[in-house]
Formats: sequence, C-alpha cells, structure tokens
Amino acid sequence: MTHPAFATHEVFNQSPPFEDVDLFTLDMPLSESIAANGAAAAAQELSEFGKHWGSAAMAARGRAANENTPKLRSFDSRGNRRDEVEFHPAYHELMARSAHAGVHNSTWTAQGKPAGAAAEVVRAAKFYIASQVETGHLCPITMTRASVAALAAQPDLLAKTMPVIATRAYDPGFAPWWTKRGMTLGMGMTEKQGGTDVRSNMTRAERDGSAYRITGHKWFMSAPMCDAFLVLAQADEGLTCFFMPRFAPDGSVNAIQFQRLKDKLGNRSNASSEVEFVGAYAERVGEEGKGIRTIIQMVQLTRQDCAIASVGLMRSGLSHALHHARHRSVFQKHLADQPLMQAVLADMALHVEASVALVMRLCRAFDQAPEDPGEAAYMRLLTPAIKYWVCKSAPGFLYEAMECLGGNGYVEEGILARHYRESPVNAIWEGSGNVMCLDVLRALSREPDAATAVLQDIAEQAKGLPGGAEAVASIAKSFRRPDGERVARLAVEKLALLAAAAALNKIAPHHAELFAATRLATPHASMYGAVDLANDDIEGLLARALP
Ligand SMILES: Cc1cc2nc3c(=O)[nH]c(=O)nc-3n(C[C@H](O)[C@H](O)[C@H](O)COP(=O)(O)OP(=O)(O)OC[C@H]3O[C@@H](n4cnc5c(N)ncnc54)[C@H](O)[C@@H]3O)c2cc1C
Repeated sequence: MTHPAFATHEVFNQSPPFEDVDLFTLDMPLSESIAANGAAAAAQELSEFGKHWGSAAMAARGRAANENTPKLRSFDSRGNRRDEVEFHPAYHELMARSAHAGVHNSTWTAQGKPAGAAAEVVRAAKFYIASQVETGHLCPITMTRASVAALAAQPDLLAKTMPVIATRAYDPGFAPWWTKRGMTLGMGMTEKQGGTDVRSNMTRAERDGSAYRITGHKWFMSAPMCDAFLVLAQADEGLTCFFMPRFAPDGSVNAIQFQRLKDKLGNRSNASSEVEFVGAYAERVGEEGKGIRTIIQMVQLTRQDCAIASVGLMRSGLSHALHHARHRSVFQKHLADQPLMQAVLADMALHVEASVALVMRLCRAFDQAPEDPGEAAYMRLLTPAIKYWVCKSAPGFLYEAMECLGGNGYVEEGILARHYRESPVNAIWEGSGNVMCLDVLRALSREPDAATAVLQDIAEQAKGLPGGAEAVASIAKSFRRPDGERVARLAVEKLALLAAAAALNKIAPHHAELFAATRLATPHASMYGAVDLANDDIEGLLARALP
C-alpha cells in the first residue's frame, strides 16, 4: 500500500507511455516502403530490432544518455594530459546495441565493398527505428559506416582497418585501434574560418617518412572518442584527406588535444569537440590534393543518414501524437475523434508516409548504384535534394507533434522536447540547406543528360498525379535559368516533393494523389492540418500510421 505521505489524487485521462511496442510492425508505411525497395525478406529481423528499440528499457537509456552528458577529462590528477571524454553507461549501451545490429557497417562486405542486395534499405530501416529512441549516438555510427567509402581511396589502409571495422563488437576502451574488437571513426573538416568552404582549411600536413605530421585545428569534431578520424589538411599538393588514429603506431597517445566540448541546443548525448593537432601522426587517404574528392564519398553517405534520421524523428513525433490523441479525452471525446485534430494528425501522417517512401527509394538507389548508372544518377541528384527537404521539414513537424500533446509535449520527461531540440542539426551539418541546393545545381551542370533522365523517370512515375506535370515543367525551367541559384530553393523543394509523390505512388497510389493534391497542385499551407481531406482519407491515413 502507498504510504499516506506519498498518496496523491487519482490520476486519470493521461495517456500511458508509448513504450514496449514493436517500432517496425506498428509502422505500415515503413514495412511497405522496405518491401517496395527490395527488403521484404528482412521483416522478421526488423521486427526483432523494432521490439528491442521500442522497449521501455531502451527509452530509459535514451533519456539517461541525454541527461548525463559527456564530460571532457583534459588532465589527470597529476596534471598529465588525458584528452578523454567520459560517457554515461547508457550511451555505451546504445552504441553496443547499434553495433551488434550492424548499423555501423552492414552495407559493406568484410573487404569493404558495397554489400549489395537490399543492404542499404535494411540498414536504413534500423537507423530510422533507432533514431526514434536516441539520435545522438548515431553520429559515430553513421560516420563509421560512411568512412569506408573514403578509405576505399587507399586500398592498403582499407585492408588493414576493415577487419576491425567489420566486426559487430562495440569496444569503448581507450587503446590502439589495431588491438580492439571493434572500432569507430569520426571526421574533421570544419575549421573556425570555414566549414562549407573547406578549401580555406589552414591545418598543415608535413611529410614524415611514409606518414605525415598534422598541425592545426578543427572547430567542430564530433564523437571525439572515436578510434580514428578522417581529417582534411593542406599538404604540398593541396587539400588532402588523412587517417588520424588516437594512438600512433608506437602505441603512444597521438597529439590530438581537445580544447573543450560544444554546449549544444540538442544532440546532447553526443560529444562535439574543438581540437588542436600538435604534430599529430596521420596516414594519407587517396592522393595529395584530392582531399575533397576523397572525403565527399563519406559525406554522401552521412547526408543520406541525416535524411533517414530526420524521418525517424518525425515518425516518433507522429506516433507519440497519435498515441496520445487516442487516449486523451477532451469535451467527452477522444482527441483522435475531434475533426480538427484528425485533420492535423492525418496531414502529418501524409508527410511522414511520403517521407519514408522517399528515403527508402533513395536507399534502393544506393544499393543499386554500383551496377546501374540510372540509379547512380538518381542517388547523385536526389541525395542533396532529399537531405534539404526532409531535414528542413523536421523542426516544424516536431513542433506540431509536441503541440498535439499539449503541455506534456513541452516537458522534458517526454521525448518530444528532446526530438525538437535535436531536429535542426541534420539540416546544418554535412552541408547546410543552401549548400544542398547548390549541390543539386552542381549535379545538373556536371552531368546534365543523366540529371535530365532522372527527372524524366520521376515524371513518368508521377504521371497523372495532381500538379505533377506542372511541377516537372517548373523544375526544368528553374534549373535552366541563368540565375538558377536565386530560385534553387524553389526548384529543389519541388523536385523533392515530386520525387516523394513518385515514390509513394508505387506503394499507396491514393495517398500519393492526396500528397500531390495538397503539396504540388496547391502549395501546402504553412501549418499542418490546414487541408481539406475526406473522412475516409483521414481514417485510411491514421490506420496505416498506427494500427
Ligand atoms: C553539432 C554539430 C556537430 C558537428 N560535427 C562536425 C564534425 O564532426 N566534423 C566536421 O567537420 N564538422 C562538424 N560540424 C560542422 C558542420 O558540418 C558545419 O557547421 C557546417 O558544414 C556549416 O559550416 P559553418 O558552420 O562553417 O557555416 P558556413 O560555412 O559559414 O555557412 C553558414 C551559412 O551559409 C550558407 N552558405 C554557405 N555557402 C553559401 C553560398 N555559396 N551561397 C549561399 N549560402 C551559403 C550555409 O548553407 C549556411 O547556412 C558540426 C556541426 C554541428 C552543429
């Protein structure tokens, strides 16, 4: 019996926690999207993953890892440099669970070649599910997975590191990478004077036998307890990519000195450092002077993950909003039965359904690109467009999801306040919004025929959808304009919307029609729910979003 001192009045009309659920099986748009993109056979594996990540225990780890933020330990008690970052055990547990499921490496073979089949789609589904629970730890997970694409430019280094990258062990020990059961990799490009404009990097690389010594700084370098970093620095022939391990080959701690950790809006379980390199040991990756070309292979993959994680965050917002609305009564009716709330929830469900169809379509392109030039062209043109639209839509979406829970949504005990603070970072890092739009223009100018073929293909798949033909004409016209940069946001947003409608058309044609009618034929209102959907459509959307 509760002690009288702790007794309270009866608590009622509060929604139960949205926990101990299967985050895969509950999500019909997800299971249909992965099936449409070649990964139907992974349903059982994904359901296991979905149950595990949907458990109350994982939710508690996510909360603990964000409340107990990483601490930089620069020195030991005697004044010796340590340069270690301590994380809460919950963070290590999250890392271990993602690594055991191969979220950090499963798109590669043991030799570091693309795994093919539907490996990208399956892994993306896991990344999307994990991001619904805790997103900060996914920073080293995405960077480790993506680093292999850059390491491919240096086959001897790839052959050395791959046996440690390819394991499913998470080994948080501070020790040389070659002695460990598993390793993680980070990335250092951004300096104080320039992040987008990495050509302005001032960090210097001097030859030292077959290796190099790096001197300079990075203004942002996340996940500082990674075992190695891919770093850009100026060598004799220009900007070059380097592999900088935490330990030099003689086993001594490398000269990587962390100055402080960033105090961030969100992404709090993840540490992001400011760092000085004081003649740090490094090995070259790819040719001297080809640093951007080398590291862009990695960045292409982290951009893909930014979009996947943003859809995951929005999906979580939608699930919590729907779950709450089905339990909370207002004026003698559940919120989920109030016509105005239905309009809001259905419009949000439509956004997520189209977004998940779009990112899974993109992941199929990543799977098939090595063998199929058409898919490679889709991947090249659409990755920046999708990162732009999906990531930039997430904060507004999460704000609306939070409001569906009323005051509870704004309070830190729930997950939505954290998701909301987390969401803007995916649009900023790995190339901010304008940079994504400029990258679409770059793809168009460098390979105009391939890009035109991609647009024609999307147009074909979106044929007959409301506003589809007009959108195609408007995109093509904007991209032909000599002052195309000025209207790039307009055209790139339309391109992403059209591609989303086309992807959804393969899975749920009627919902693709609704999406096109409310986003292409007429501009979407600035708030969710300012749409005129029929009752049947509302019911259909909400039943698919959360049975
Ligand atoms: C939490 C966090 C963690 C990070 N971790 C890492 C990391 O691990 N490694 C790493 O290397 N970096 C990291 N970054 C840095 C991040 O990648 C950069 O902040 C980002 O690339 C933008 O660079 P910048 O901050 O120098 O801004 P700037 O390059 O100055 O850009 C400012 C704005 O100008 C816009 N812009 C730039 N060029 C143009 C143009 N030609 N026309 C129009 N608009 C333009 C951009 O879109 C942006 O909105 C991290 C950032 C954050 C917030």
